[in-house]
Amino acid sequence: SPTPGSGNLSAILRSTGNLVLEDTSIPQPTENEVQIQMHAVGICGSDVHYWTHGRIGDFIVNAPMILGHEASGIVSAVGSKVTSLKVGDRVAIEPGVPCRLCNFCKGGRYNLCPDMAFCATPPIDGSLRRYYCHAADFCYKLPDHVSLEEGALLEPLSVGVHACKRAGVTIGSKVLICGAGPIGLVNLMTAKAMGASSVVITDLEQNRLDVASKLGADHAIRVDTKDVQELVKRIHSALGEEPSITIECTGAPPSIQTGIFATRSGGVLVLVGLGPPEISLPVVNAAVREVDIRGIFRYVNCYPTALEMIASGKIDAKPLITHHFKLAESLKAFETAKTGEGGAIKVMIHCDQ
Ligand code: NAD
Ligand code: ZN
Repeated sequence: SPTPGSGNLSAILRSTGNLVLEDTSIPQPTENEVQIQMHAVGICGSDVHYWTHGRIGDFIVNAPMILGHEASGIVSAVGSKVTSLKVGDRVAIEPGVPCRLCNFCKGGRYNLCPDMAFCATPPIDGSLRRYYCHAADFCYKLPDHVSLEEGALLEPLSVGVHACKRAGVTIGSKVLICGAGPIGLVNLMTAKAMGASSVVITDLEQNRLDVASKLGADHAIRVDTKDVQELVKRIHSALGEEPSITIECTGAPPSIQTGIFATRSGGVLVLVGLGPPEISLPVVNAAVREVDIRGIFRYVNCYPTALEMIASGKIDAKPLITHHFKLAESLKAFETAKTGEGGAIKVMIHCDQ
């Protein structure tokens, strides 16, 4: 295995707007960790946001931080107590490791753990580098026929799995998904795989809607009006009825408002998108029609399900990947993800030489 101190090219956010590639030392695994030779790391909107704004809500980049958390690689060394993995195993990395001791962890909702260490959420370093160490039990061995790129996609896909579970998607569900970015699209694919009979998706941009249609959306509606009620009417007529489930994946206030009005009485609105922290919403409308509003935070116990969906062929997530870059080209990769140029959806960085 590689010796410490030798080159470990890493994408480091030094300060807002200042993303650099520098060598860091190669970390050695502690007893319950594995060292991973990184292969594929997808760029997430949050990586871009830390780069451009230096913070997300209360998470502030106060010190240099390595970016990246949608990742996969090949085990290159194992800690002394690790029995579940061996050198050479191809793994997807679930990027958040919780404390395992608190009531949230013990109760099975470890995504809510206050002591979560999550890759590339300050002050925790991410995995966009050549070598990285991670808790072995948060690494998932990939079957031979699942690619490392697909392994990296398990991260956003897990967000879709968690949101669709919280929403209660099941066979025959009629679902509205607001927003056709990467997160809207993984929710679309998951909802269909879970048996939704009809999914209508919205976006501002036609090219994203075209992708959604290719990936199985039954109806795609371009949001070209500020009139929320007009939009609600279009959603209902496309679906032939009111959706019992709405999964909001934009965070845009008008879209959340639309989501409330569009959802059938007694239905569920899941807030996935995170926009302005405080907004005006038609809460009385939601209250008197018993529309449940639920949030989600990342995912919990969803990686195994996401992997099963990919491995069994129920979901083909590969079309989400539109761009490939080498680790040394990270800046170009981040520019592409930021501007969305060339119809960028998921930009993948390849960390091996
Ligand atoms: P994205 O910006 O790529 O996609 C958002 C899409 O919404 C864009 O295509 C945009 O055109 C569209 N949009 C914007 N305003 C709209 C409107 N009024 N109506 C319809 N469509 C509209 O982002 P993404 O990577 O797909 O992530 C989506 C959201 O999910 C972000 O807010 C992100 O922070 C959030 N997110 C939340 C969690 C969580 O744990 N809750 C996890 C991952 C991502
Ligand atoms: Zn905990």
